[in-house]
Amino acid sequence: MAASSHQIADSASRIPAALRRHEQQTAAATTRPLAAALKAAQNEAVQHWVRAAGARQTTPVGDALKRLVQAIRDLVTRAFTGAGKQAQRDIERAAFNAAQQSAQRGGAVTTAMRGEPTPPVMPTIGPEAADAAAAVPDAVAEEEAGALALLTTAALTALGLAGITRAFGRARRALTRITRALAVATTSAAAHAVRAIAATINPATRLLWVAEPGACPACAAYAGRSVRPGQQFPGGLSLDPRRTRFPEPITAPPRHPHCRCVVIPWSPDWRLDGTPLPTLLRQHARTGAA
Ligand SMILES: [Zn+2]
Repeated sequence: MAASSHQIADSASRIPAALRRHEQQTAAATTRPLAAALKAAQNEAVQHWVRAAGARQTTPVGDALKRLVQAIRDLVTRAFTGAGKQAQRDIERAAFNAAQQSAQRGGAVTTAMRGEPTPPVMPTIGPEAADAAAAVPDAVAEEEAGALALLTTAALTALGLAGITRAFGRARRALTRITRALAVATTSAAAHAVRAIAATINPATRLLWVAEPGACPACAAYAGRSVRPGQQFPGGLSLDPRRTRFPEPITAPPRHPHCRCVVIPWSPDWRLDGTPLPTLLRQHARTGAA
């Protein structure tokens, strides 16, 4: 007996939530060391300022100011030491776990659709995830340089303690860059693992887009669309043309950073009971149903 398309759509629509949980947990773990190092460095920097500012709590001048600025710059540099490379390794590991989980869940849905076991694949993270992780050390270094550029005698003279706060605010942008790269890497790796499953089943197996429940209007427009191997999903789709659209064609999710849409293997030859699966996924995305 064929599986019901409703059941398949329900199982497939639960995969993005699992991906989201994994991404959020690993994002917290990946950013924790640098976040803690920056917090400690900022506390120490404030203590330096308080000591240097003396009883009247005014920004020091001359050599005292130069020494203060140098001491704070050293604290920033020390907080960032090794952070970019560490984040890259953490992101690669998170992407691999995402690929493994995705291969398991995507494989289970595929087994249900075909009514026969899905051949096992050795998950790999794929080039998109590897590129996202590899770009992190430079991104982190850029934010470090941005923070250091704000730590000058002129800036501290003009802003006092607020100048230190501003520099550390800039330094913390590195955490946002890491989180975004992690999001892109995990979603890309998940899609890459499913592509490998599809190719193992049959070189002609398609990839079917499953939007995250509650997806943005752009992602919702891709729900239920499928592509043949080597084909790309078109760019520029959106259910709401007034909102931001993404013009580039893509091979798979993510459509944007923090997109947790997924793909599943799919063939029009697989017989399912009920409404065709692509139609159901499209309806889910349009009505916001989970
Ligand atoms: Zn999406």
